[in-house]
Amino acid sequence: MNKIEHIGIAVKSLKNSNELFSKLFGMRHYKVETVESEGVNTSFFQVGENKIELLEGTKDDSPITKFIEKKGEGIHHIAFDVDDIEFEIERLKNEGFKVLNETPKKGADNKLIAFLHPKSTNGVLIELCQEIRE
Ligand code: ZN
Repeated sequence: MNKIEHIGIAVKSLKNSNELFSKLFGMRHYKVETVESEGVNTSFFQVGENKIELLEGTKDDSPITKFIEKKGEGIHHIAFDVDDIEFEIERLKNEGFKVLNETPKKGADNKLIAFLHPKSTNGVLIELCQEIRE
């Protein structure tokens, strides 16, 4: 793994939170994107070298909606940049980690993504993400 690619924060209202985090960071988000397959609306802030992703559920059975019901708003996942996501998935499976989706899927911000089950990572939801290279 290379570096933290972004930190994901679950929010109830993307609109309200975009306002809040714009004030906090002193800058606007640079993009808003819906990932239909995941049932989320996302926005991204570039804070110096670091990226923050806000996530709002778009339906009742969205993972974000369920997360907020259980735990409330807050840090949802930490995403790590990898060069070869399929290689990393195999490597981590062999190390005994539980991979939630063994086939990488298309995430926001032009990435292939996969999640590790938080039960195998001390309660932290880990996202692997690889830039999609055309
Ligand atoms: Zn993410």
